[in-house]
Order: sequence, then C-alpha cells, then structure tokens
Amino acid sequence: MAEKKHRGTLCVQAGWTPKKGEPRVLPIYQSTTFKYDNSEQMARLFDLKDTGYFYTRLQNPTNDAVAAKIAALEGGVAAMLTSSGQAASFYAVFNICEAGDHFISSGTIYGGTYNLFGVTMKKMGIECTFIDPEATDEEIEKAFRPNTKCFFGETISNPGGKIFDIERFARMAHAHGVPLIVDNTFATPINCRPFEWGADIVTHSTTKYMDGHATAVGGCIVDSGKFDWMAHADKFPGLCRPDESYHGLTYAESFGAGAYITKATAQLMRDLGSIQSPENAFLLNLGLETLHLRMKRHCENAQTVAAFLHDDPRVAWVSYAGLPDDPHHERARKYLPDGGCGVIAFGLKGTREDAIRFMDRLKMICIVTHVADARTCVLHPASHTHRQLSDEQLREAGVAPDLIRLSVGIEDVEDILADIRQALAD
Ligand SMILES: *Cc1c(COP(=O)(O)O)cnc(C)c1O
Repeated sequence: MAEKKHRGTLCVQAGWTPKKGEPRVLPIYQSTTFKYDNSEQMARLFDLKDTGYFYTRLQNPTNDAVAAKIAALEGGVAAMLTSSGQAASFYAVFNICEAGDHFISSGTIYGGTYNLFGVTMKKMGIECTFIDPEATDEEIEKAFRPNTKCFFGETISNPGGKIFDIERFARMAHAHGVPLIVDNTFATPINCRPFEWGADIVTHSTTKYMDGHATAVGGCIVDSGKFDWMAHADKFPGLCRPDESYHGLTYAESFGAGAYITKATAQLMRDLGSIQSPENAFLLNLGLETLHLRMKRHCENAQTVAAFLHDDPRVAWVSYAGLPDDPHHERARKYLPDGGCGVIAFGLKGTREDAIRFMDRLKMICIVTHVADARTCVLHPASHTHRQLSDEQLREAGVAPDLIRLSVGIEDVEDILADIRQALAD
C-alpha cells in the first residue's frame, strides 16, 4: 500500500487510481451491500478466504481508498477508518487487550481519551496506568506488569501542546514485548511519521486537520506492520491463537503484516460497528487533498501568533513548541522539523474572569468545542472540554486551569492578530 511518492503528491493522488472510463474523483459508494454471482463466492468472503466487499459495516470501497491514502501518508501497511477518533482510540487498544489486561498511557492526552481509558475501559475490566511522560525511565518502568499489553501517547498533546518522546517510549515498550500506539492527530503525517521513530500503531481523529473544514467526525487506525505478534504469542492470544468466531483462523498466521487491521475489521467492526459513513470518508478525502498546504499555513500563522503572545506583557505564559525558549523546543526540532500544528496554549495574567472576558471579546475568532480546522477558534478546556476532570486530573493531563486553547486557522495572520489585540485591550 505504501506508495513511493512525496507526501504532497500522496495527499492529492494516493488511494484512488481509476481505470479506463472510471470517475477521476473518488466516488461515494453509497451502498450497504455488494453483489455476487453465486453462494460459493459469498461463502468464501465470510470465511476470509477471498477479499471483497459484502457489507459496508465491514468494508466499503470509498472508505478503503481513503484509508489507503492515510496508510501511504503514514508509511504503514494497512489502515481502517472509524466513525470517530474516540472509536479509533478504543479499537486500537481493545484489539489487543481484554478483561484482565492492563496498559500504560501518557497522562498528557486528550480529555476524551483520558476518560475512555480511565473510566469506561475500566468498567470493561481493562486497567490503564497513566504515567507522567516527563518522569524518569526508572519511574515509568514501575508501571509495567506481566499483563501489560501496550503503551499509548499523543505526538502533540491536546490541549497542552507537549511533545511525546516517541523514540524513548518505543524503546521502553519494545523492551517489554508490547507495541507503542501513538495518536498523531495534531501533527498529522505531514509533520511527523511516528513509525519512523519506532511506533507500531498510529491513530487519528480525522475530525481535526485531516478533514480540516469541520464537516465530518471520523477516525483512523494505521498499522506499521512491523510489530512481531508471534514473537509474543502468549501476550496476544487474540492475534496468535485461533479465533473461534472465524472457524479457528489465526490472524497473525493467515495475514502476516496485515493481521492487526484484519482482526480489527473482521472482529471489532463486525461486532461493534463504529464504521465511518462513505459520505464522511469522501469529505475527509477532500480535506486530505490539501492537508500538506494547510498544515504549512497553520504552522506559519501559529508561529507568528505564538511569538506575539510570548512578547505581550498581558500574557502570563505560552506553550508552543515552535518557540525557541519552549521547554519542548528541542524535542520539536527532532520530531517536527517542518513545524508542529496550529494549536497554541496560553494563559493570561489576572483571574479566570479575565480569560473569559478575553474570549468573549473576540469577534472573528469564535468559541467552539472544535479544534484544528481552517477557522481560528478558541476554547477554555477547564470550563468546556475537560469539565469532567478534577483539578488533579487536569494537572496530570497537562491542562492548567487558566489554559486557553487557541487553534490558529489559515486566514491572513494580520486579521487573527488584530482580533486578539482588540480583545486584549482594556
Ligand atoms: C478530538 C481528538 C480525539 C477524539 O476524536 P473525535 O473525532 O472527536 O472522536 C482523539 N485524540 C485527539 C488528540 C483529539 O484531538
């Protein structure tokens, strides 16, 4: 699936290669079902002995073309689309963890993922230990248990903008025979390819920059195909032992490097059904066609806005790894040499009311839950997205109570600055 083209070309061209007389643009296969000539053909599909489409809950040509494009961008072997980023995070872990298992996650992650791992998956009998990604190796080592099945982190954390030391955590995970899963939503494969640093699985909320226009909720899971499941067969019985619900088929034997995504499709999507609609996949594909252009502009604009905030006396602090004196700047230079993302976290001097007054005075920049799309927007996580977290959990997630999340869009930066200036003025 990985095509040997430059990344901008993959954004435009990968995934859909029409044959003679077929539509130049990826069509929406708005069909739940697909036709076969006889019963035997259909039976072979159900046995996973042939590949082909039969029901859109499992696979759909529009979705597959878009998944193939994302796999090519990440440098993976296979990918699947999900209905949301939340579904992608859940499936990515649940594909290799079951009741009685344990996994480790950076505590510095998106609030929704934190809740999924810490509360909802706990109810399913899967326990997550959150670690401080800035702690020493020695401290983090203590989190590993015999039943630990994976390690999870975010390339650039939402909303704090902290950079995850992918290479270090890949090394630690692999020393314990488990894969590293990286949520690459904010960086996108334009700015970081976690597989190049040793990650095994990548997840995305495609709702953010990939769609980029705030039109469609979606997610994606990509497999590097590099993790050797069979070398740790006892840890991963779901992949390395016969699946009774598929006539005793063993994914890692039958599908090799494609085992992980095949199992997630054939088993999790079959049973849980969080499929992305083909229409949303079509919209996602339109977004992907300009991802390389938009990411560049998001980063340029954010760099200018971050520098402005950094130098303004009314601003208490700014977290943006593109700033030379940011504690994560060196790490950003390593993992994100072409820029990180458009999201800046900052705090104003004064009280929480001052932060709210600032946001309410913005004119062009809107207060919205969303982040990472073409329009500049703003949010106060402690009173909005992260409301459900206690102060201690907020700190663990790298979210200061006064943190304002500014998602810098692709407008002309002068207009973004003008709006911020007038909102800051007395
Ligand atoms: C938004 C987000 C998610 C969840 O994605 P949805 O598409 O909203 O379900 C997961 N991870 C990160 C980093 C996000 O920003």
